[in-house]
Amino acid sequence: MFICRNQPCGAEWQLADVLIKNEGQGLMFRCPMCGARNKVLRHDAPDGTITYEQDNSVPPKPAVK
Ligand SMILES: [Zn+2]
Repeated sequence: MFICRNQPCGAEWQLADVLIKNEGQGLMFRCPMCGARNKVLRHDAPDGTITYEQDNSVPPKPAVK
């Protein structure tokens, strides 16, 4: 599960709810609710399974309005 770190949004999303892509600063997803960008980490398992984990080490970037 991912949680939008843009306060006070804080919406929770499943992987299927968000689009993860690299926007030049690493992988991230845009919160469908507020548009904030939240960083994620990709993990490649030995069997080829790809999983994503939210990276909480950096603050989110609010959407430009
Ligand atoms: Zn949000």
